[in-house]
Amino acid sequence: MVLPALHLNKEQVADLFTDYTKVKNNPIISEEVKTARRVMRDKFTHADMGVSGANVAVAETGTVFTMTNEGNGRMVGTLPSIHLYVFGIEKFVKSLSDARYIFKALPRNGTAQRITSYISMYTGACEVTTDKETDEKRKKDFYCVILDDPGRREILAEPDFREIFHCIRCGACLDVCPAFALVGGHVYGSNVYTGGIGTMLTHFLVSEERAAKIQNICLQCGRCNEVCGGGLHISDMIMKLREKNMKEKPDALKKFALDAVSDRKLFHSMLRIASVAQGMFTKGEPMIRHLPMFLSGMTKGRSFPAIAQVPLRDFFHTIKQDVKNPKGTIAIFAGCLLDFVYTDLARAVVADMNSIGYKVEMPLGQACCGCPATNMGDTENAKKEAEINIKGMEAEKYDYIVSACPSCTHQLHLYPTFFEEETEMYKRAKELADKAYDFCKLFYELGGVTETGDGKPVKITYHDSCHLKRSLRVSKEQRELLKNTKGVEFVEMNDCDNCCGFGGSYSLLYPEISAPILEKKIQNIKESGANVVALDCPGCLMQIKGGLDARGIDDIKVKHTAEIIAEKRGLI
Ligand code: SF4
Ligand code: SF4
Repeated sequence: MVLPALHLNKEQVADLFTDYTKVKNNPIISEEVKTARRVMRDKFTHADMGVSGANVAVAETGTVFTMTNEGNGRMVGTLPSIHLYVFGIEKFVKSLSDARYIFKALPRNGTAQRITSYISMYTGACEVTTDKETDEKRKKDFYCVILDDPGRREILAEPDFREIFHCIRCGACLDVCPAFALVGGHVYGSNVYTGGIGTMLTHFLVSEERAAKIQNICLQCGRCNEVCGGGLHISDMIMKLREKNMKEKPDALKKFALDAVSDRKLFHSMLRIASVAQGMFTKGEPMIRHLPMFLSGMTKGRSFPAIAQVPLRDFFHTIKQDVKNPKGTIAIFAGCLLDFVYTDLARAVVADMNSIGYKVEMPLGQACCGCPATNMGDTENAKKEAEINIKGMEAEKYDYIVSACPSCTHQLHLYPTFFEEETEMYKRAKELADKAYDFCKLFYELGGVTETGDGKPVKITYHDSCHLKRSLRVSKEQRELLKNTKGVEFVEMNDCDNCCGFGGSYSLLYPEISAPILEKKIQNIKESGANVVALDCPGCLMQIKGGLDARGIDDIKVKHTAEIIAEKRGLI
């Protein structure tokens, strides 16, 4: 009565038991355990055959292991006269010494135990007494069925996916997955496993069509990778699966949209037209709160920022930069959101960089970073956008490239992977990637931490964006910057690094998952007691600010770290 019933409360268990036993069961845990024991022991003692699954199988000795907390596994293996083991070839390790690692990792990762209550091991058939009076003995019937059904060898042959076999089924990735926490295991509809790793196993072992649907549930937040006992890169494999699906069965609508975004001139023209056409929805306000008809779902629980009247690229050259004897020149990679929506945020980035002695330029040949294309598995458009930006940014002219969007920065770092090593494009991509930093990291590295600020008291909490924390591994720098600002009282919120539910187009395509994740984030923000939420991602800014606006919460502001620094230091 531990893991298999984890999603049921004691009342639901009592109802289930009442249905099954036809006797009224009370929702009292100790009584429920007694019922389970009574009913199941009867089954164990009268069964002709017990069937077990293995957590590990040792090739050298032929020993199979089952780790349990309930003890039922041992009943299955000892009471019936026939014992059958069924397990996949991936459960094999070479020696008993290798099995040790799994004994340690599985319970610690799965249920935070040092060891499970039972570890049962069987090396072939044991001798049992069949008649107590005559002391007659015989060997039990013991069989192992080792599964190597179509799919398992295929995984071994796929370099991008073979690490699936490192999975020890500890379930830790499910515990931390924001999508799984909402939808639960049944949605994955698979009888192999659920969550991100379940998606991969479903693809290879059950059905490619089913996996193609459920892989969409993944937000690409990367939390699963952080805790994986087998060291798997689950989100990367899901991304590879998306690429495979996009190549083999492209989604026409997604492809059409991504083709439009990767055409820089066309996309920018569309945004300029939208900035004019949006007037009927914004009604002069900075936020779009209601969209009509079939678009109405998009503004349910979240408002949208209006597109800027004048994009950053049109007025960047007018931003005054008073930097005497500059230490260097930084190129800003604005990304779509700073270029066409959060233009004031770009002003703050420039002011901050100027304040530590660097001039900032905006190369106008830049386009969308390609992150949406990569996220949807469209490597063709992602590569096209990489080429545009490598040529447009001309990284060789600058000391650094700064981006105030961690998803863009992460994407810039991926550029070398699109090209053959030693080619000209690879070298230019590498130079761009090596010089590209996210704002808070670069500002921190260039000496931005100083005890300055207007001293006005403000209580700030921080939301970690997924790409910044888990892809770029930046989590301390922005906190140092904020904590060293005079007047700032810094408080952590609960689950500060849980996804806000934005995930780019995810929040539009899957509002039923995105909205409750945002709700939880807002609850954590409110409970922190802060009056400002700091963050470093314009996507998270859009999601959280829009969520607070839709709920009429106007006493909590959402700001990018660059804006807070610029405001508190009187730079803008
Ligand atoms: S990347 Fe995030 S959403 Fe996707 S499977 Fe991992 S934890 Fe879940
Ligand atoms: S993928 Fe990793 S965390 Fe998830 S069940 Fe397998 S070993 Fe555990």
